[in-house]
Amino acid sequence: MNKKALIIGTGLGGLATGMRLIKHGYQVDFVEKYHQSGGRLNQLKKDGFTFDMGPSFFSMSYEFDELVKYCDTTMPFEFVELDPLYSVNFKKGGKNYLIYKDLKKLAEQFATEEPNFEQSIHKYLKRAGELFHDTEHIVIKQNFNSIAGYLVQLARVPWKHAPMMVRSIWDELNRNFDSYEVKVILSLIAFFLGATPFDTPAVYSLLSYTELQHDGYYNVKGGMYKIVEGMEKWLRERGAKFNFNTEIVDFRSSNGQITSFIDQDGASWQADVHVVNADAAWFRGAILNRKKYSPEKLDKQKWTLGPFTIYLGIDKKIPNIHHHNYFLGENFKDYAGKIFKNSMGLDKPYYYVNALSKFNAECAPEGMENLFILCPVPDLRYKPDWSDREEIAHNIIGDLSSRLDFDIESSTISKTILDPTHWQSMFNLYKGSGLGLAHDLNQIGGFRPRNIDEKFNNVYYVGASTVPGTGLPMTIISSKLVTEQILKGYGSLS
Ligand SMILES: Cc1cc2nc3c(=O)[nH]c(=O)nc-3n(C[C@H](O)[C@H](O)[C@H](O)COP(=O)(O)OP(=O)(O)OC[C@H]3O[C@@H](n4cnc5c(N)ncnc54)[C@H](O)[C@@H]3O)c2cc1C
Repeated sequence: MNKKALIIGTGLGGLATGMRLIKHGYQVDFVEKYHQSGGRLNQLKKDGFTFDMGPSFFSMSYEFDELVKYCDTTMPFEFVELDPLYSVNFKKGGKNYLIYKDLKKLAEQFATEEPNFEQSIHKYLKRAGELFHDTEHIVIKQNFNSIAGYLVQLARVPWKHAPMMVRSIWDELNRNFDSYEVKVILSLIAFFLGATPFDTPAVYSLLSYTELQHDGYYNVKGGMYKIVEGMEKWLRERGAKFNFNTEIVDFRSSNGQITSFIDQDGASWQADVHVVNADAAWFRGAILNRKKYSPEKLDKQKWTLGPFTIYLGIDKKIPNIHHHNYFLGENFKDYAGKIFKNSMGLDKPYYYVNALSKFNAECAPEGMENLFILCPVPDLRYKPDWSDREEIAHNIIGDLSSRLDFDIESSTISKTILDPTHWQSMFNLYKGSGLGLAHDLNQIGGFRPRNIDEKFNNVYYVGASTVPGTGLPMTIISSKLVTEQILKGYGSLS
């Protein structure tokens, strides 16, 4: 008889693990707290507009290729490569820098600010590329069953990269570039990892390589949620069952094994193997009552910034906006240093805007536009009260209006604002942290919460806060790593 796997959570990691387990002959059931699949990769439909709620683009598209190949299937969605990748604006009336993967074209953007850009970026990316290829298989795509094992593996990374562990991304940029604009733009990747470029090790400059040279950025025809729809359809066609509005709140165990998980209504869920897609650190503390993951301990960890997201339906087309846009300021060092702990007000925010309808007309009524605004903000440890959300949103929308020279407020016919309290309650994101545990050197690899439970030998973890880390491609890799672990314990059944 087939072994049954219960997957707690239908985020990308949960769905991808479900696909891999079905491929190996497992029967797969999902329980999900939210009313539909996707986790952070979710969708909001409102007033005739369709919004991607979280992720709006991704790198390392070949990880999706690997997943579908693994499952002997074809891609149930269509990728579109971004070109330019995004635009960056530093001030009202200032230049919009278009970030191209074609480095010659990119150099033209910085012709005044950084005359030697082309030469410098080649040198910078060569180093970053070596780092990527020297660590991808040794560190990123590896399971570590102990810290010692991790350290042994790390020692295999060529020693020439050691200075990049002690230097910050900003130091590395300073060594290669002079222009403020170039340095700020190339350092934005640090925020995805949960820290500022001033305290993120230069090893992570490898992300610039994945962004600008290796594979670029992609999104999906019809919107990012097509990924989730395609995967869910594939899973349902192969017998997977989805149980929404079902939150696991407790468990029963015996002899070192989970015997059942209990939902909010007291119903019990039994399976041979359990895969937790909820945040791997939060779940261990809040549901499994592990002291090591108590709120006091978790509060001492480093977490990525909270999302403050605004979804706007606009009753006309906006002329001066690109598909993906960053709106920044001229006080980067000050802002970056203070935004994590909110000693900097949110009245002059830095934010990202995605105009999905620019390239996916079906996501807005004819002649209209939908806008997704993401402003990274302090998590609930540092700013628990968001009663000023309307005011913050008003500031952001006002700033955007003046930069675009377009009155957004008076053209808005649909508005939804989500702050970190919503993100926490929708998906159990710890203290509303958007990307999960940060990626400090002491929170990655062997130091990150493992994908095998410490106590119950039939419980595994997948997703952003276990190995290897956050972001869509990393979550797909996470599903591969956890499947390897499950197969070691239970074997392939097909
Ligand atoms: C605003 C925002 C923008 C982002 N933008 C990008 C981007 O552009 N590119 C990119 O690559 N990444 C981006 N990310 C990061 C990316 O979304 C995540 O890294 C990835 O989606 C995490 O997937 P996951 O598998 O860890 O699961 P999650 O998405 O966290 O899903 C976990 C699921 O488990 C469910 N769950 C939790 N607890 C329970 C429980 N007790 N019982 C039942 N169900 C439970 C949750 O409801 C959720 O559906 C963004 C994230 C956010 C928040």
